[in-house]
Formats: sequence, structure tokens, C-alpha cells
Amino acid sequence: MKIDCNHVWEHISAYIDGEIDPQLRADIDRHMEHCDICSAVMDSTRNVVVLIGDGRVFEIPAGYSERLHQRLDQELAKTD
Ligand SMILES: [Zn+2]
Repeated sequence: MKIDCNHVWEHISAYIDGEIDPQLRADIDRHMEHCDICSAVMDSTRNVVVLIGDGRVFEIPAGYSERLHQRLDQELAKTD
């Protein structure tokens, strides 16, 4: 299955939590191999996890995801 950036962002927290379908994880891994944007998103999202990583289940700060998506939309608009 071929996935696009939106799929990656949709499942990014599940991916980091490890609560993701193995097939989907493989698809995301493959996508990130050739997508700099998603690699960067994954890196920065992991950093957020580390920052708030106090033993809780992964939870991104309120509004973070929305701002991230807006930023990514802008980046994508530029590259297209
Ligand atoms: Zn991507």
C-alpha cells in the first residue's frame, strides 16, 4: 500500500506509541526513507515526546498537532 504524508501524520502518535499495525508501520518507514518532511516531523515529534516523557502515555500538547499540520501544509505548498 502506498501512503502519502497525510497518512503518516494521521498515525504518527500511534507509530511512536508502538500501537500501530505492523504493515502500516512498514509503509510509514518506507515513506520516510524518501520523504524529508515526514522524517523531520517524526524527529521533532519524538523530541516532544522526550520533553514530556514522564511515564505517561504519549500525548502531544494541545494545539501542537494543529499548528504542526498548518506548518506542514505551508511547507508542502512551497515544494509543490
Ligand atoms: Zn511524507
